[in-house]
Amino acid sequence: NRKIVLASRPVGTPTADNFRLEQTAVPTIAEGDILLRSMYLSLDPYMRGRMSDAKSYAEPVALGEVMVGGTVCQVEQSNHADYQQGEWVLSYSGWQDYAISNGEGLIKLGMHPTHPSYALGVMGMPGFTAYMGLLDIGKPKQGDTIVVAAATGAVGSMVGQIGKIKGCRVVGVAGGEEKCRYAKEVLGFDDCIDHKADGFAEKLAQACEQGIDVYYENVGGKVFDAVLPLLNTGARIPLCGLISQYNATELPQGPDRLSMLMGTLLVKRIKMQGFIIFDDYADRYDEFAAEMSQWLAEGKIHYREDLVQGLENAPQAFMGLLEGKNFGKLVIQTNQA
Ligand code: NDP
Repeated sequence: NRKIVLASRPVGTPTADNFRLEQTAVPTIAEGDILLRSMYLSLDPYMRGRMSDAKSYAEPVALGEVMVGGTVCQVEQSNHADYQQGEWVLSYSGWQDYAISNGEGLIKLGMHPTHPSYALGVMGMPGFTAYMGLLDIGKPKQGDTIVVAAATGAVGSMVGQIGKIKGCRVVGVAGGEEKCRYAKEVLGFDDCIDHKADGFAEKLAQACEQGIDVYYENVGGKVFDAVLPLLNTGARIPLCGLISQYNATELPQGPDRLSMLMGTLLVKRIKMQGFIIFDDYADRYDEFAAEMSQWLAEGKIHYREDLVQGLENAPQAFMGLLEGKNFGKLVIQTNQA
């Protein structure tokens, strides 16, 4: 039984030393328990926050404890009346091969799910985040211009495609030509601008001739700087994530632009609202799941996974996620049937 624990807290960018792979015996289960074997592990940007002990909306992982994370598992052994061997479940068992559960918090995925790992992406937390943030806070209207960064990632790719379904003009921002091409050709975005290329802000302005009505914020930093002057009166900003800042150890240098930001929000009557998906919207998951599975079945939504083999490769893959090395939803295939 392999587990990856938090060995030390990162200062700035995480390094391999912050993680430690440990081997332990496969746990034995008591009456009423289930032994889960992990098949897929989701790697998500929020895990960077859990590695720090700075105050946040959730408790940090303790030093020496298993890294947290959503998993898709198979029931290996069951002493629980409601679960049988071989059944698939969505769990939160973290970066390890085996875990014991009493059934609490598990979501059943059936004996033969077609795409078990989709429960970690398009049909799970990231898809739900895109759906609620865009529709409930962004409130897109037909003909609006939506801008979303990390456009080919787990959340951004769904935001843009839902925006297209709602009849909007969608402009993505992504790192590199290949991702931008994919956003346009496969995801159906109207345009996609490479934030690493020269003249990024000017190109974004050219792609948003009618200004921006909804800016779905995933990254912050220089992308937000380029977006701010383009926002239209009455624009909405679902504040979902700020990944460009997650490794920052201090505020950026340079002139204080807070008064400019507040002035823009005031004069243009812009609404910016943060949200934490399950804290704010847990009761609307069924509504999302029904609509998203319909769109998937109709071929209206494309979903790309970046599948990495082997639990031992999770630290490296996670560090890559914070630098844009992933292309699509990052998932570790921890074990094979
Ligand atoms: P992604 O699959 O989009 O992967 C992260 C991507 O972020 C990278 O591929 C990269 O894309 C981009 N990125 C990384 N560093 C930078 C940088 N310095 N500047 C610009 N872009 C960068 O991850 P998710 O879809 O899982 O998450 C997207 C955002 O949503 C994150 O901020 C995350 O924290 C947030 N989130 C918030 C939730 C909530 O409840 N509020 C729930 C789930 C996610 P590229 O190469 O294209 O730049």
